Amino acid sequence: MQPVFATTPDALVEPLQRAGIAPYRAGQVLSWIYGRGVVDPEAMTNLPRELRALLAGELAPPALEPVQIARSVDGTRKFAFRLADGEIIESVLIPDRHRMTLCVSSQVGCAMGCGFCATARLGLRRHLTPDEIVAQVMFARRHLEEDPLGCGHLTNIVFMGMGEPLHNLENLIAALGILTAPWGLGISPRRITVSTVGLVPQMRALLERTQVNLAVSLSATTEEGRRELMPVTRKYSLQELMDACRELPVPRRRRITFEYVMLAGVNDSDDDARRLVKLLHGIRSKVNLICFNAFADAGYAGSGAERRERFQRLLLDHGVNATIRDSRGPDIAAACGQLAAQTETHSAAR
Ligand code: SF4
Repeated sequence: MQPVFATTPDALVEPLQRAGIAPYRAGQVLSWIYGRGVVDPEAMTNLPRELRALLAGELAPPALEPVQIARSVDGTRKFAFRLADGEIIESVLIPDRHRMTLCVSSQVGCAMGCGFCATARLGLRRHLTPDEIVAQVMFARRHLEEDPLGCGHLTNIVFMGMGEPLHNLENLIAALGILTAPWGLGISPRRITVSTVGLVPQMRALLERTQVNLAVSLSATTEEGRRELMPVTRKYSLQELMDACRELPVPRRRRITFEYVMLAGVNDSDDDARRLVKLLHGIRSKVNLICFNAFADAGYAGSGAERRERFQRLLLDHGVNATIRDSRGPDIAAACGQLAAQTETHSAAR
């Protein structure tokens, strides 16, 4: 049996042939699964009985069970899911005025060890499979149909939840294929952003093989400072990362987003702002200045509002497009860097 949310047209060819069922039925099956979110073949009422029986033997139901839905005062919702092996992952739904963004996880835990991130403390437990990634999106879509919020439907997806998506490249690309295919969820790649700590070869591969947006988590302006905060810098130096960004095949009229978590007294000085301007020279870019969200034993404090605004001003004055990104859902530990799958706090879905 294969997971229902990993179903592709190719995966249906052989079983349909074997059962002597017309190939056009594959389109109907996919439309039930991804168009309507129906995973029980018995409920696919326009399919012949023998096809429903065949699918019941071929497709395994989603192995992702919601165990908690937490609601923030700002409208943000955090979903915790239990996977078939008992691991817990989280996704976050973030309403904005005209957008509804889902932040999805790509791994259980993470191997990258960023100093400002609670997920790092878990270490890497395992990669998510393509269907586990797709299932998070399917769940959010269904949830919004039943319990509308903001603009009502999902408009954007960001891979900024638990895990380093490019460390799980093949599964990520398979999931992106389903999310963007006309026979799948049909989401425009322009509305999907993959965020990375800067795995240089995988960044190239992602942009060569997909049309999604790229975000790079930078958060430091010197080699030493970044090595301290983001151990990946020992493998791919800041210089190498920025050189690679200059050469990436970024589609026309698109930019690379650089995420910069602002930490008081660590990376938020005027000199940092000036160095950042230099680092970004020659790159079509925009900068998101992110408020640091504290978690237990973090060892860092976020920059104050005044400092953040001065830092932004310095960037803007030098022609760098920079925005300050509000923290969303900090009261439910759903904000950037706070996802840690605190399984002991997860109760039954509510
Ligand atoms: S910030 Fe992202 S890449 Fe870094 S440890 Fe956290 S989840 Fe991993």
